[in-house]
Amino acid sequence: VPEFSLIRRLASLVPTSGADIECSIGDDGAVLCPDSGERLVVATDTLNEGTHFLPGADAGALGHKALAVNLSDLAAMGASPRWALLNLSLPREDAAWIEAFGSGFAGLAERTGVRLVGGDTCAGPLSLVVTVLGTQEPGRSLRRDGARPGDDVWVSGCLGDAALALERRLAGRPVEGRLAEALDAPEPRLALGRRLVGVAGACIDVSDGLLADLGHIATASGLGAVLTVADLPASPALAALEDDTRRWSLQLCGGDDYELCFTAPVAQRDTIRGIARDIDLRLTRVGSMEQGAAVRCRAPDGAAFRPARRAWEHFAGSDGG
Ligand SMILES: [Mg+2]
Repeated sequence: VPEFSLIRRLASLVPTSGADIECSIGDDGAVLCPDSGERLVVATDTLNEGTHFLPGADAGALGHKALAVNLSDLAAMGASPRWALLNLSLPREDAAWIEAFGSGFAGLAERTGVRLVGGDTCAGPLSLVVTVLGTQEPGRSLRRDGARPGDDVWVSGCLGDAALALERRLAGRPVEGRLAEALDAPEPRLALGRRLVGVAGACIDVSDGLLADLGHIATASGLGAVLTVADLPASPALAALEDDTRRWSLQLCGGDDYELCFTAPVAQRDTIRGIARDIDLRLTRVGSMEQGAAVRCRAPDGAAFRPARRAWEHFAGSDGG
């Protein structure tokens, strides 16, 4: 793959400059200008064909998603995204693929104020590595270790749609509308993350399933948590599933949701409902933090609920970045 022409083509599709960029893509390094006193927040995530997405996945969707999953991490920190780097490994030179990928990446980059300031391409199995840099005021990060006993556990949007979409796609069934969007074009919750600064105790983005990711908050905070499965937010497609165990398992373990899970004191409930109205995003209270060391799930009859393991876990998983 001729590295120079591919990067140059990408750079013509994606925003690459701005007042806070002294030297952008095309030199040996980028020179960036955060405001004095700002903190840099950096996150990186890999999407590999066959592990994180299906072979033959739509290039435009991959362009969006490669950036979206990284912006989701910045959202979970309460940071504002500014710059991105992209490392692409491609099995062969493919101008149409680059065009579609670049358009998907550019669409989300333009909406979120992200400029591409560096990158690299090489020949190899299809792999997308994006690194995003954001900024925020000192001491304002939303972290995983800030939960307190008795805090509410909240989650944004709906859970399980991406996993249901993947399950259907793997079975060769058509996936459209809201379900396809959940899997192919997740929306990073940047506005929510910024609004949660000073409100939430702990925050994480849900990439590996609510159960695993709330588990990271619990571990980092030295606590346990209890989830009420009947309260988990479900889209109409999920709500239509008649098998409760299957629905709750998708919502708890499906992964690829890219919603935010956060904890907050009970006294913040009205503030959080106000944020939900302001940014027009569903925010649902799904449980609470407690003393202990595990995340347990409670079924409507009060019994412990244990999710079922499914085939899609091979594809929906990531390493928790
Ligand atoms: Mg994350």
